[in-house]
Amino acid sequence: MCIFCDIIEKKVPSEIMYENEQVVAFHDIRPKAPVHVLIVPKKHIRSVNDITESDTAAIGALFFAAQTVAEMMGVKDGYKIAFNVERKGGQLIDHVHMHLLAWPGSQEGKKEVAFI
Ligand code: 5GP
Ligand code: ZN
Repeated sequence: MCIFCDIIEKKVPSEIMYENEQVVAFHDIRPKAPVHVLIVPKKHIRSVNDITESDTAAIGALFFAAQTVAEMMGVKDGYKIAFNVERKGGQLIDHVHMHLLAWPGSQEGKKEVAFI
């Protein structure tokens, strides 16, 4: 259906670092931060604008998995999560994905907007 569906189905190689019944998390191929993980629902949902009421558990699972991903990456003390929505919002891959970004080396909190 799309490149992320192929990654989920392991038809395309990627660095999957976490997986459960509802989500898959893998390292972004072009990281914009020292830690840059994409967390995706196994169900193909095109965009945040296409989420339906029946998808709310799958979307909630992204946030729940973010805790685990952050813990596994050793960045639970500070990270950002973001969604790009539609082309004008910077979305290039049409399969809902949460960006989890962190700068574990930096002492101060990252306040500037991360364009991803
Ligand atoms: P978007 O701009 O749609 O919010 O983010 C898509 C992200 O997916 C980008 O950060 C891009 O680097 C990443 N990406 C695109 N194709 C692949 C791929 O084949 N494998 C992985 N691991 N990441 C990808
Ligand atoms: Zn897909």
